[in-house]
Amino acid sequence: MTRRRDRPDPLSDDLACIRCLRAMPVGELDSQFWCGECLTRARKRSAFRGWMAGGALAVFLALYIGLWIRPDYSLIPMGWVLVVGVAFYLGGRVVREFLFGWERVRNRRAVEAFPPSDGPPDGPAT
Ligand SMILES: [Zn+2]
Repeated sequence: MTRRRDRPDPLSDDLACIRCLRAMPVGELDSQFWCGECLTRARKRSAFRGWMAGGALAVFLALYIGLWIRPDYSLIPMGWVLVVGVAFYLGGRVVREFLFGWERVRNRRAVEAFPPSDGPPDGPAT
């Protein structure tokens, strides 16, 4: 249950992004109060992790095919390469969407926020 003080003020024009805590116009936030930059960052992070998982799945599948199944590669050799490629692509996509959805469902507050003295979110100030 949302406490009263956690609710956004309906009369205010600016709201804080729930992830980075930067104030911005209401129109720039989505339905879960994420700004576009936080959405982009979450999508990139999920995509990277998804492709890593897809790569791990493809390597595992290639090892399984090569060491356990030991197919006759003279028959449709590109078929096995295609199987590994499809596992990489679909595994990466599925994991990416799952991780992004999980991050949206968890909706952790202020995880992208940083203290103003630490500089921009891209890197620490020198
Ligand atoms: Zn944000």
